[in-house]
Amino acid sequence: MSLIVQKYGGTSVGSVERIEAVAKKVSGFRAQGHDVVVVVSAMSGETNRLIALAKDIQDNPDPREMDVLVSTGEQVTIALLCMALKKLGCDARSYTGGQVRILTDNAHMKARILEIDEGNMRADLAAGRVVVVAGFQGVDENGNITTLGRGGSDTTGVALAAALKADECQIYTDVDGVYTTDPRVCEGARRLDRITFEEMLEMASQGSKVLQIRSVEFAGKYNVPLRVLHSFQDGPGTLITLDEDYSDMEQPVVSGIAFNRDEAKVTVAGVPDMPGVAARILAPIGAANIEIDVIVQNVGADGTTDITFTVHRNDLEKAQGVLEKVSAEVGAREVLTDSKICKVSIVGVGMRSHAGVASKMFEALAADNINIQMITTSEIKIAVIIDERYLELAVRSLHKAFELDAK
Ligand code: ASP
Ligand code: MG
Repeated sequence: MSLIVQKYGGTSVGSVERIEAVAKKVSGFRAQGHDVVVVVSAMSGETNRLIALAKDIQDNPDPREMDVLVSTGEQVTIALLCMALKKLGCDARSYTGGQVRILTDNAHMKARILEIDEGNMRADLAAGRVVVVAGFQGVDENGNITTLGRGGSDTTGVALAAALKADECQIYTDVDGVYTTDPRVCEGARRLDRITFEEMLEMASQGSKVLQIRSVEFAGKYNVPLRVLHSFQDGPGTLITLDEDYSDMEQPVVSGIAFNRDEAKVTVAGVPDMPGVAARILAPIGAANIEIDVIVQNVGADGTTDITFTVHRNDLEKAQGVLEKVSAEVGAREVLTDSKICKVSIVGVGMRSHAGVASKMFEALAADNINIQMITTSEIKIAVIIDERYLELAVRSLHKAFELDAK
């Protein structure tokens, strides 16, 4: 017998029929003698629907009221799931984030979990009940409802698993695991049996959308074994672990290829090549709450240099606005932008112990005549910015070059 935290995403609870199917599955685990805590998302499309209602009133609604609004989606699902469980004769009790007491800071719409009170959940489990918790939400110290950012139910699941020291946190979703890359882009993509937290974190931050990034960070930090599984198909899914040495197989050099179509490139050209200029350009961008991803500065020539960086495409206009003023102040020649770019990354802990990974990547891209505009690396990742037209081609060539194609 073990304690399992299961999280079901929006599509898995997207209709009353599906909620009943989830209830059946959960009661099955319970019947096997496991203690089960279930975390659910809002029914698919519901959070978007609520956000759209708010935007009909105002472009930037008050964040506190946004949280009061969007947290209702999950409240609907916990009640319906408990009803479905009880109908099957499986005792269950629902909790909103505040009722558990998932204490967060007061950063509305992107709150961080500070503390979880396990008392109520433990008591229910001891009484033989399934505990059903609303994902994505918590409460601040003044009792205000907060939410954890889009996709935040994953983080609720992992945080509860950490607090309860669960044996496993299972994330049920509409895919049967983590893939070497997106199967819609590359036919040869295959499910990974396991992947390390570090790799998963890089995959997620490089654009792979299986799990909310924060949930992976959390799982890694507290060493919560995390498994991604399909809600309605049987299978082993993908286990995300700390463990790096796979005893039964050769460690692959590259575990996956991630990509991101949402970036845009900004070049501030002809800026004086002297101390402080990069800070003067990039600080106001940060102050405007625009996240910067890749940054490259050219070797200076004739006393000037170019600084190029990427931002989320949605932030491009805002960045241009900020730079209009800043570029004049630092005496830049011009500001160039390009939103038709994408980022493609190879990820793998195996890179640490293998030389020549970068050249193999660049050769594969060159063989397809794909021009690399920017490069960035970390210990376990190499990412390139290329023309968005070549995204699919690049992903497929790299998948093949690093021998990830299904055998
Ligand atoms: N319902 C929230 C969202 O759509 C949280 C979640 O599903 O994880 O972002
Ligand atoms: Mg989700």
